[in-house]
Amino acid sequence: MTVRTRIAPSPTGDPHVGTAYVGLINYCFAKKHGGEFILRIEDTDQQRSTAESERAILETLHWCGLTWDEGPDVGGPHGPYRQSERSAIYRTYVDKLLAAGHAFKCFCTPQRLEEMRVAQRAAGQPSHYDGLCLTYDAAEVARREAAGEPFVVRMKVPNDGVCVVSDLRRGDIEFEYKSVDMQVLMKSDGLPTYHLANVVDDHLMEITHVFRGEEWVSSAPKHLLLYRYLGWEPPKLMHLPLLRNPDKSKLSKRKNPTGILFYQRMGYLPEALMNFLGLLANAAREGEDELMDLAHMVKRFEVEHVPIGGPVFDVAKLDWINARYIRERLDAATFVERVRRWAITGERLERIAGLAQPRIERLSDLGLLLAFLFAGRIPVRVEELRGKLAENELRSALTMALADFDALPAWNAFAIEGVFKRIAEALGKKPRDVARPFYVAITGSSTSIPLYDSMELLGRDIVRERLRNALALAGGPAKLEVPA
Ligand code: GLU
Repeated sequence: MTVRTRIAPSPTGDPHVGTAYVGLINYCFAKKHGGEFILRIEDTDQQRSTAESERAILETLHWCGLTWDEGPDVGGPHGPYRQSERSAIYRTYVDKLLAAGHAFKCFCTPQRLEEMRVAQRAAGQPSHYDGLCLTYDAAEVARREAAGEPFVVRMKVPNDGVCVVSDLRRGDIEFEYKSVDMQVLMKSDGLPTYHLANVVDDHLMEITHVFRGEEWVSSAPKHLLLYRYLGWEPPKLMHLPLLRNPDKSKLSKRKNPTGILFYQRMGYLPEALMNFLGLLANAAREGEDELMDLAHMVKRFEVEHVPIGGPVFDVAKLDWINARYIRERLDAATFVERVRRWAITGERLERIAGLAQPRIERLSDLGLLLAFLFAGRIPVRVEELRGKLAENELRSALTMALADFDALPAWNAFAIEGVFKRIAEALGKKPRDVARPFYVAITGSSTSIPLYDSMELLGRDIVRERLRNALALAGGPAKLEVPA
């Protein structure tokens, strides 16, 4: 049997370092066993999935040095590798489950489900489907269908007994079936949910081992039931703890940069980032040099050494590893090449040059004008931040911006400008007056190349980090009185 692992990201946001971590573990395990590593895009959430996020995920994982044997960009014998292109496949399995009586059509309206949830919450119960549509006989189901009532398909769950999830590192974890919800498998628009698509694809793509984030462990009983209903052997599972901050809190983009792009823009080398993540997965043994390339990480990879307590994403350690790569592992020519690729590659250089040209008198003005684009933290003077805003207005503007920027589906100058217009309106100020403190927070100066373009070029994570610093200088987040 060939070992086959996969990474199955959902393209719903900026690529996360956790995805690189999980990808690395799946890659190392597959390659260690002479197997194959697959990339599948799980875009069943049509509202939140974007082509831009998918492109960014593929690009950044490639930048990290991961390669996959099969995937949406490289093809392969088990394609398509994007779930939105596999609807017809899922339908056949929904029909099988319905025919075998393992699933049922549920006609409950969103209002009824909401009332049920509210009542369950009031009674202190976890929210779960109450099984009303299970009581309908075939004639009733046919009548409702003929009347054109929309329905979803839900899986049946045994009333009692326990489901044992065997985790490669945690051992057997027991879940009582009573606590497992009758999961929706197919939505009323005929598209699958994550759970169905994930199980069908792991089976059809012949995945043998799944290493995934621990947030999915509670889904495992549903998945195992589906494997049983469909008569399939499930893959071996291991749930990986989430990365943590040094204070053990969950790594979250509200507190720390979590985007791979941030680390790329900040000038971390991909091999250093992967080396760092590889050490979180399999710490160095006694006397072993911590610097190691991907091939070496594969060779020494042991599932038994993957920690089940949350590994700490310690940026100081990453800095140390990165510094060692820069100083010890790059010869002069490679270093030059890296600097060139990091700072001034084709399109980015053209865009920056186009913005700077009308604003300089001498080429030597470029250094100071553009320094903020090539820096990590920048010094900001609190007196310069305020401009024409009162202290509470400044704090409100920064607080609103941080929330709104997080929610933007696409990160570009146009979308960023929209946020500024909204904030200016909410505060009853001119957009120019609202923008000024942002200039200072982002560029370190009140005159520079245009703000919205600068923010796009810097990327969401660096902007978030600079605004968070500015907000701390300004006195911390505001309680928003204006409608958000
Ligand atoms: N699409 C899921 C995610 O974004 C994958 C979960 C799994 O690996 O089963 O994390």
